[in-house]
Amino acid sequence: MTITPLMPVYPRCGFRPVRGEGAWLISEDGSRALDFAAGIAVNLLGHGHPHLTKAIQDQAATLIHVSNLYGSPQGEAFAQRLVDTTFADTVFFTNSGAEAVECAIKTARAYHQSQGSDRFEIITFKNAFHGRTMATISASNQEKMHKGFMPLLEGFKYVDFDDLEGAKAAIGPKTAAFLVEPIQGEGGVRPASDAFIQGLRALADEHGIMLILDEVQCGVARSGTLYAYEQYGIIPDIMATAKGLGGGFPVGACLATEAAARGMVVGTHGSTYGGNPFAMAACQAVWDVVANEEFLAQVRSTGEKLRSTLEQFIGNYPNLFNGVRGKGLMLGVMMTHETRPFVAHLRDNHGLLLVAAGDNTFRVLPPLNIGDDEIQTFMEKLSAGAASYQIPEAA
Ligand SMILES: *Cc1c(COP(=O)(O)O)cnc(C)c1O
Repeated sequence: MTITPLMPVYPRCGFRPVRGEGAWLISEDGSRALDFAAGIAVNLLGHGHPHLTKAIQDQAATLIHVSNLYGSPQGEAFAQRLVDTTFADTVFFTNSGAEAVECAIKTARAYHQSQGSDRFEIITFKNAFHGRTMATISASNQEKMHKGFMPLLEGFKYVDFDDLEGAKAAIGPKTAAFLVEPIQGEGGVRPASDAFIQGLRALADEHGIMLILDEVQCGVARSGTLYAYEQYGIIPDIMATAKGLGGGFPVGACLATEAAARGMVVGTHGSTYGGNPFAMAACQAVWDVVANEEFLAQVRSTGEKLRSTLEQFIGNYPNLFNGVRGKGLMLGVMMTHETRPFVAHLRDNHGLLLVAAGDNTFRVLPPLNIGDDEIQTFMEKLSAGAASYQIPEAA
Protein backbone atom coordinates (compact mmCIF):
# COMPACT_ATOMS: atom_id res chain seq x y z
CA MET A 1 0.00 0.00 0.00
CA THR A 2 1.38 3.39 -0.94
CA ILE A 3 -1.50 5.67 -0.01
CA THR A 4 -0.98 7.61 3.22
CA PRO A 5 -3.39 7.21 6.15
CA LEU A 6 -4.32 10.89 5.70
CA MET A 7 -5.95 11.09 2.26
CA PRO A 8 -3.24 12.80 0.23
CA VAL A 9 -5.22 15.84 -0.95
CA TYR A 10 -2.93 18.43 0.66
CA PRO A 11 0.73 19.11 -0.21
CA ARG A 12 1.71 19.15 3.46
CA CYS A 13 5.02 20.73 4.44
CA GLY A 14 7.67 19.72 6.99
CA PHE A 15 6.49 22.11 9.69
CA ARG A 16 4.45 19.99 12.11
CA PRO A 17 2.96 22.08 14.91
CA VAL A 18 2.01 20.40 18.15
CA ARG A 19 1.49 23.38 20.47
CA GLY A 20 0.54 27.04 20.27
CA GLU A 21 1.19 30.10 22.45
CA GLY A 22 -0.43 33.35 21.41
CA ALA A 23 0.85 34.22 17.93
CA TRP A 24 3.43 31.40 17.98
CA LEU A 25 3.34 27.76 16.92
CA ILE A 26 5.80 25.19 18.22
CA SER A 27 6.71 22.26 16.02
CA GLU A 28 7.24 18.58 16.86
CA ASP A 29 11.01 19.23 16.71
CA GLY A 30 10.77 22.24 19.04
CA SER A 31 11.17 24.98 16.43
CA ARG A 32 8.99 28.08 16.80
CA ALA A 33 7.19 29.96 14.05
CA LEU A 34 5.37 33.27 14.13
CA ASP A 35 1.85 32.46 13.02
CA PHE A 36 0.59 35.24 10.73
CA ALA A 37 -1.65 32.73 8.97
CA ALA A 38 -3.80 31.98 12.06
CA GLY A 39 -5.12 28.74 10.59
CA ILE A 40 -6.28 30.75 7.55
CA ALA A 41 -8.07 33.54 9.40
CA VAL A 42 -9.44 31.21 12.09
CA ASN A 43 -7.42 31.64 15.31
CA LEU A 44 -8.38 35.26 15.78
CA LEU A 45 -7.48 35.25 19.48
CA GLY A 46 -4.20 33.41 18.86
CA HIS A 47 -3.43 30.04 20.41
CA GLY A 48 -4.33 29.08 23.98
CA HIS A 49 -6.37 32.22 24.70
CA PRO A 50 -7.40 31.83 28.36
CA HIS A 51 -11.02 32.95 28.00
CA LEU A 52 -11.71 30.73 24.97
CA THR A 53 -9.84 27.79 26.51
CA LYS A 54 -11.75 28.02 29.77
CA ALA A 55 -15.12 28.32 28.03
CA ILE A 56 -14.40 25.16 26.00
CA GLN A 57 -13.08 23.26 29.03
CA ASP A 58 -16.08 24.18 31.18
CA GLN A 59 -18.55 23.30 28.44
CA ALA A 60 -16.82 19.97 27.77
CA ALA A 61 -17.40 19.03 31.39
CA THR A 62 -21.02 20.24 31.31
CA LEU A 63 -22.56 19.14 28.01
CA ILE A 64 -20.89 18.61 24.63
CA HIS A 65 -23.66 17.51 22.33
CA VAL A 66 -27.33 16.71 22.31
CA SER A 67 -29.20 16.96 19.04
CA ASN A 68 -31.40 19.40 17.26
CA LEU A 69 -34.36 17.24 18.29
CA TYR A 70 -34.35 19.10 21.62
CA GLY A 71 -34.68 22.70 22.69
CA SER A 72 -31.37 24.53 22.61
CA PRO A 73 -30.88 27.23 25.23
CA GLN A 74 -27.24 27.53 24.09
CA GLY A 75 -28.14 27.89 20.41
CA GLU A 76 -30.93 30.37 21.16
CA ALA A 77 -28.62 32.51 23.27
CA PHE A 78 -25.86 32.78 20.67
CA ALA A 79 -28.32 33.21 17.78
CA GLN A 80 -29.86 36.08 19.77
CA ARG A 81 -26.41 37.60 20.17
CA LEU A 82 -25.81 37.42 16.41
CA VAL A 83 -29.24 38.92 15.79
CA ASP A 84 -28.44 41.74 18.23
CA THR A 85 -25.05 42.53 16.66
CA THR A 86 -25.76 42.08 12.91
CA PHE A 87 -28.43 42.69 10.24
CA ALA A 88 -29.87 39.21 10.78
CA ASP A 89 -33.23 38.15 12.21
CA THR A 90 -32.51 34.42 12.21
CA VAL A 91 -29.51 32.06 12.17
CA PHE A 92 -28.76 28.46 11.12
CA PHE A 93 -25.60 26.96 12.67
CA THR A 94 -23.26 24.74 10.65
CA ASN A 95 -19.87 23.11 11.22
CA SER A 96 -17.90 24.80 8.44
CA GLY A 97 -17.83 27.64 5.96
CA ALA A 98 -18.87 25.54 2.99
CA GLU A 99 -21.95 24.34 4.85
CA ALA A 100 -22.81 27.92 5.75
CA VAL A 101 -22.62 28.86 2.04
CA GLU A 102 -24.69 25.76 1.15
CA CYS A 103 -27.35 26.89 3.58
CA ALA A 104 -27.22 30.40 2.07
CA ILE A 105 -27.74 28.99 -1.43
CA LYS A 106 -30.64 26.82 -0.23
CA THR A 107 -32.16 29.78 1.63
CA ALA A 108 -32.06 31.93 -1.53
CA ARG A 109 -33.59 29.23 -3.71
CA ALA A 110 -36.25 28.47 -1.10
CA TYR A 111 -37.09 32.17 -0.82
CA HIS A 112 -38.28 32.03 -4.42
CA GLN A 113 -39.45 28.45 -4.76
CA SER A 114 -41.50 28.44 -1.54
CA GLN A 115 -43.65 31.12 -3.17
CA GLY A 116 -44.17 29.27 -6.44
CA SER A 117 -41.39 30.93 -8.44
CA ASP A 118 -38.93 28.69 -10.29
CA ARG A 119 -35.93 30.99 -9.92
CA PHE A 120 -32.78 29.06 -9.05
CA GLU A 121 -29.78 30.65 -10.72
CA ILE A 122 -27.04 32.23 -8.62
CA ILE A 123 -24.69 34.83 -10.10
CA THR A 124 -21.18 34.47 -8.64
CA PHE A 125 -17.84 36.15 -9.35
CA LYS A 126 -14.64 34.95 -10.96
CA ASN A 127 -11.82 33.71 -8.73
CA ALA A 128 -14.25 33.35 -5.84
CA PHE A 129 -13.78 30.70 -3.21
CA HIS A 130 -16.89 29.40 -1.46
CA GLY A 131 -15.76 25.97 -0.21
CA ARG A 132 -15.24 22.41 -1.45
CA THR A 133 -18.67 20.78 -1.47
CA MET A 134 -20.30 20.10 -4.84
CA ALA A 135 -22.52 23.19 -4.65
CA THR A 136 -19.74 25.47 -3.46
CA ILE A 137 -17.21 24.34 -6.08
CA SER A 138 -19.97 24.82 -8.66
CA ALA A 139 -20.33 28.38 -7.33
CA SER A 140 -16.72 29.14 -8.30
CA ASN A 141 -15.35 29.38 -11.84
CA GLN A 142 -11.96 27.99 -10.72
CA GLU A 143 -11.35 24.96 -12.91
CA LYS A 144 -8.65 23.54 -10.64
CA MET A 145 -11.43 22.80 -8.12
CA HIS A 146 -13.75 21.22 -10.71
CA LYS A 147 -11.34 18.81 -12.35
CA GLY A 148 -12.29 15.18 -11.69
CA PHE A 149 -15.62 16.06 -10.06
CA MET A 150 -17.87 16.72 -13.05
CA PRO A 151 -20.71 17.28 -13.56
CA LEU A 152 -21.13 20.42 -11.52
CA LEU A 153 -24.38 21.42 -9.90
CA GLU A 154 -26.32 23.48 -12.40
CA GLY A 155 -27.47 27.03 -11.90
CA PHE A 156 -24.34 29.17 -11.46
CA LYS A 157 -23.26 32.02 -13.73
CA TYR A 158 -19.81 33.56 -13.34
CA VAL A 159 -19.14 37.25 -13.86
CA ASP A 160 -15.95 39.30 -13.40
CA PHE A 161 -15.41 40.43 -9.82
CA ASP A 162 -16.11 44.11 -9.23
CA ASP A 163 -17.83 44.40 -12.64
CA LEU A 164 -21.26 45.87 -11.92
CA GLU A 165 -22.27 46.14 -15.56
CA GLY A 166 -21.40 42.47 -16.06
CA ALA A 167 -23.50 41.52 -13.03
CA LYS A 168 -26.44 43.53 -14.35
CA ALA A 169 -26.17 41.96 -17.80
CA ALA A 170 -26.17 38.45 -16.26
CA ILE A 171 -29.57 38.89 -14.58
CA GLY A 172 -32.29 36.82 -16.22
CA PRO A 173 -35.78 35.52 -15.44
CA LYS A 174 -34.32 32.59 -13.47
CA THR A 175 -31.92 34.64 -11.32
CA ALA A 176 -32.38 33.92 -7.63
CA ALA A 177 -29.38 35.63 -6.04
CA PHE A 178 -25.95 37.21 -6.19
CA LEU A 179 -23.31 35.45 -4.10
CA VAL A 180 -20.17 37.49 -3.43
CA GLU A 181 -17.22 37.80 -1.06
CA PRO A 182 -16.98 41.51 -0.14
CA ILE A 183 -13.24 40.90 0.15
CA GLN A 184 -12.04 37.97 -1.95
CA GLY A 185 -9.72 35.92 0.26
CA GLU A 186 -8.32 32.93 -1.59
CA GLY A 187 -8.61 34.90 -4.83
CA GLY A 188 -5.92 37.34 -3.64
CA VAL A 189 -7.26 39.59 -0.83
CA ARG A 190 -9.21 41.79 -3.20
CA PRO A 191 -11.71 44.15 -1.57
CA ALA A 192 -14.73 44.91 -3.75
CA SER A 193 -15.28 48.60 -4.44
CA ASP A 194 -18.05 50.42 -2.56
CA ALA A 195 -19.79 51.11 -5.86
CA PHE A 196 -19.84 47.40 -6.73
CA ILE A 197 -21.35 46.15 -3.46
CA GLN A 198 -23.80 49.06 -3.29
CA GLY A 199 -24.68 48.49 -6.93
CA LEU A 200 -25.38 44.79 -6.32
CA ARG A 201 -27.65 45.77 -3.43
CA ALA A 202 -29.55 48.16 -5.70
CA LEU A 203 -29.83 45.58 -8.52
CA ALA A 204 -31.02 42.93 -6.06
CA ASP A 205 -33.73 45.28 -4.78
CA GLU A 206 -34.78 46.30 -8.27
CA HIS A 207 -35.06 42.72 -9.55
CA GLY A 208 -36.41 41.03 -6.42
CA ILE A 209 -33.37 38.81 -5.98
CA MET A 210 -31.31 37.96 -2.92
CA LEU A 211 -27.92 39.44 -2.05
CA ILE A 212 -25.82 36.74 -0.35
CA LEU A 213 -22.49 37.74 1.16
CA ASP A 214 -19.82 35.15 1.82
CA GLU A 215 -18.02 36.60 4.83
CA VAL A 216 -16.52 33.27 5.84
CA GLN A 217 -13.00 34.71 5.67
CA CYS A 218 -13.46 38.48 6.05
CA GLY A 219 -16.08 38.31 8.81
CA VAL A 220 -15.79 38.22 12.62
CA ALA A 221 -13.79 41.44 13.16
CA ARG A 222 -11.07 40.53 10.64
CA SER A 223 -11.82 43.49 8.34
CA GLY A 224 -11.89 45.98 11.24
CA THR A 225 -15.66 45.87 11.72
CA LEU A 226 -17.60 42.90 13.04
CA TYR A 227 -18.62 42.18 9.44
CA ALA A 228 -17.24 43.81 6.30
CA TYR A 229 -20.70 44.75 4.95
CA GLU A 230 -20.86 47.48 7.60
CA GLN A 231 -18.05 49.30 5.78
CA TYR A 232 -20.00 49.20 2.52
CA GLY A 233 -23.04 50.85 4.06
CA ILE A 234 -25.44 48.11 2.97
CA ILE A 235 -27.04 45.05 4.50
CA PRO A 236 -27.25 41.68 2.79
CA ASP A 237 -30.33 39.44 2.75
CA ILE A 238 -28.30 36.35 3.61
CA MET A 239 -24.73 35.93 4.87
CA ALA A 240 -22.37 33.02 5.49
CA THR A 241 -19.85 33.26 8.34
CA ALA A 242 -17.40 30.71 9.78
CA LYS A 243 -13.56 30.67 10.09
CA GLY A 244 -13.03 33.08 13.04
CA LEU A 245 -16.49 32.45 14.51
CA GLY A 246 -15.36 29.81 17.01
CA GLY A 247 -11.74 31.04 17.29
CA GLY A 248 -10.56 27.59 16.12
CA PHE A 249 -13.59 25.56 17.08
CA PRO A 250 -15.21 24.31 13.83
CA VAL A 251 -18.45 26.23 13.51
CA GLY A 252 -20.22 28.33 10.90
CA ALA A 253 -23.52 30.08 10.49
CA CYS A 254 -25.95 31.22 7.83
CA LEU A 255 -27.62 34.49 8.81
CA ALA A 256 -30.72 35.87 7.14
CA THR A 257 -33.41 38.50 7.41
CA GLU A 258 -36.90 37.33 8.25
CA ALA A 259 -38.04 37.98 4.68
CA ALA A 260 -35.12 36.10 3.11
CA ALA A 261 -35.68 33.06 5.35
CA ARG A 262 -39.35 32.64 4.41
CA GLY A 263 -38.70 29.27 2.75
CA MET A 264 -36.68 27.78 5.60
CA VAL A 265 -39.50 26.19 7.57
CA VAL A 266 -39.69 23.03 9.68
CA GLY A 267 -38.18 20.03 7.92
CA THR A 268 -36.43 21.90 5.10
CA HIS A 269 -32.85 21.80 6.40
CA GLY A 270 -30.79 20.28 9.17
CA SER A 271 -27.46 19.28 10.69
CA THR A 272 -26.63 16.69 13.33
CA TYR A 273 -23.88 18.67 15.03
CA GLY A 274 -24.84 22.20 13.96
CA GLY A 275 -25.02 24.62 16.88
CA ASN A 276 -24.33 22.09 19.61
CA PRO A 277 -23.60 23.38 23.13
CA PHE A 278 -19.83 22.87 22.72
CA ALA A 279 -19.69 25.02 19.58
CA MET A 280 -21.93 27.67 21.10
CA ALA A 281 -19.65 28.00 24.14
CA ALA A 282 -16.69 28.69 21.84
CA CYS A 283 -18.68 31.27 19.86
CA GLN A 284 -19.86 33.04 23.00
CA ALA A 285 -16.28 33.28 24.27
CA VAL A 286 -15.13 34.76 20.94
CA TRP A 287 -18.01 37.23 20.94
CA ASP A 288 -17.20 38.25 24.55
CA VAL A 289 -13.82 39.42 23.29
CA VAL A 290 -14.43 40.77 19.79
CA ALA A 291 -17.95 42.21 19.67
CA ASN A 292 -17.23 45.60 21.18
CA GLU A 293 -16.07 48.91 19.77
CA GLU A 294 -12.85 48.94 21.79
CA PHE A 295 -11.63 45.65 20.31
CA LEU A 296 -12.71 46.60 16.79
CA ALA A 297 -10.95 49.98 17.03
CA GLN A 298 -7.83 48.10 18.12
CA VAL A 299 -8.07 45.81 15.06
CA ARG A 300 -8.36 48.86 12.81
CA SER A 301 -5.40 50.66 14.34
CA THR A 302 -3.24 47.51 14.36
CA GLY A 303 -4.25 46.94 10.74
CA GLU A 304 -3.30 50.48 9.76
CA LYS A 305 0.06 50.19 11.53
CA LEU A 306 0.83 46.86 9.89
CA ARG A 307 -0.25 48.11 6.51
CA SER A 308 1.78 51.32 6.55
CA THR A 309 4.84 49.43 7.83
CA LEU A 310 4.44 46.92 5.00
CA GLU A 311 3.93 49.65 2.42
CA GLN A 312 7.13 51.36 3.49
CA PHE A 313 9.04 48.10 3.52
CA ILE A 314 8.07 46.83 0.09
CA GLY A 315 9.51 49.99 -1.46
CA ASN A 316 12.94 48.53 -0.67
CA TYR A 317 12.25 45.51 -2.90
CA PRO A 318 10.51 46.68 -6.06
CA ASN A 319 11.79 43.53 -7.79
CA LEU A 320 9.76 41.37 -5.34
CA PHE A 321 6.68 43.29 -4.27
CA ASN A 322 4.31 45.69 -5.91
CA GLY A 323 1.58 46.60 -3.47
CA VAL A 324 -0.48 45.96 -0.35
CA ARG A 325 -4.27 45.66 -0.28
CA GLY A 326 -7.04 44.54 2.05
CA LYS A 327 -8.92 45.86 5.05
CA GLY A 328 -8.22 45.68 8.78
CA LEU A 329 -6.08 42.63 9.56
CA MET A 330 -6.91 40.91 6.28
CA LEU A 331 -3.97 42.08 4.20
CA GLY A 332 -2.48 40.87 0.95
CA VAL A 333 0.97 41.65 -0.39
CA MET A 334 1.19 41.53 -4.17
CA MET A 335 4.34 40.07 -5.65
CA THR A 336 5.95 40.43 -9.04
CA HIS A 337 5.94 36.64 -9.51
CA GLU A 338 4.51 33.37 -8.08
CA THR A 339 4.19 33.69 -4.27
CA ARG A 340 4.28 30.04 -3.16
CA PRO A 341 8.08 29.67 -3.19
CA PHE A 342 8.47 32.88 -1.16
CA VAL A 343 5.90 31.75 1.42
CA ALA A 344 7.76 28.40 1.69
CA HIS A 345 11.10 30.23 2.06
CA LEU A 346 9.76 32.37 4.94
CA ARG A 347 8.33 29.27 6.63
CA ASP A 348 11.34 26.99 6.19
CA ASN A 349 14.18 29.46 6.70
CA HIS A 350 12.76 32.28 8.80
CA GLY A 351 10.06 30.74 11.03
CA LEU A 352 7.28 32.91 9.61
CA LEU A 353 3.89 31.50 8.57
CA LEU A 354 1.80 33.25 5.89
CA VAL A 355 -0.69 31.95 3.32
CA ALA A 356 -0.36 32.08 -0.46
CA ALA A 357 -3.36 33.27 -2.45
CA GLY A 358 -4.34 33.75 -6.07
CA ASP A 359 -3.18 36.62 -8.26
CA ASN A 360 0.47 36.46 -7.05
CA THR A 361 -0.54 37.63 -3.59
CA PHE A 362 0.27 36.30 -0.14
CA ARG A 363 -2.08 36.73 2.77
CA VAL A 364 -1.10 38.30 6.09
CA LEU A 365 -3.76 37.07 8.53
CA PRO A 366 -2.40 37.40 12.08
CA PRO A 367 -4.40 36.81 15.23
CA LEU A 368 -6.44 39.99 15.82
CA ASN A 369 -4.98 40.60 19.29
CA ILE A 370 -1.34 41.04 18.27
CA GLY A 371 0.64 44.04 19.52
CA ASP A 372 3.73 46.02 18.56
CA ASP A 373 6.09 43.19 19.58
CA GLU A 374 4.57 40.75 17.12
CA ILE A 375 4.52 43.36 14.34
CA GLN A 376 8.19 44.12 14.94
CA THR A 377 9.17 40.44 14.93
CA PHE A 378 7.09 39.92 11.79
CA MET A 379 8.86 42.77 9.99
CA GLU A 380 12.28 41.45 11.07
CA LYS A 381 11.49 38.01 9.73
CA LEU A 382 9.99 39.35 6.52
CA SER A 383 13.00 41.66 5.93
CA ALA A 384 15.45 38.85 6.54
CA GLY A 385 13.40 36.62 4.24
CA ALA A 386 13.29 39.17 1.43
CA ALA A 387 17.03 39.86 1.75
CA SER A 388 17.92 36.16 1.49
CA TYR A 389 15.40 35.27 -1.24
CA GLN A 390 16.41 34.15 -4.74
CA ILE A 391 13.51 34.21 -7.18
CA PRO A 392 13.38 30.64 -8.57
CA GLU A 393 13.68 30.27 -12.37
CA ALA A 394 10.17 28.86 -12.76
CA ALA A 395 8.47 31.62 -10.76
C1 LIG B 1 -12.62 29.17 3.74
C2 LIG B 1 -13.76 29.71 2.98
C3 LIG B 1 -14.91 28.95 2.73
C4 LIG B 1 -15.04 27.50 3.10
O1 LIG B 1 -14.94 27.27 4.47
P1 LIG B 1 -14.65 25.78 5.01
O2 LIG B 1 -14.78 25.92 6.49
O3 LIG B 1 -13.29 25.40 4.55
O4 LIG B 1 -15.69 24.90 4.43
C5 LIG B 1 -15.97 29.57 2.07
N1 LIG B 1 -15.88 30.85 1.67
C6 LIG B 1 -14.79 31.61 1.91
C7 LIG B 1 -14.77 33.04 1.47
C8 LIG B 1 -13.68 31.06 2.55
O5 LIG B 1 -12.59 31.79 2.74
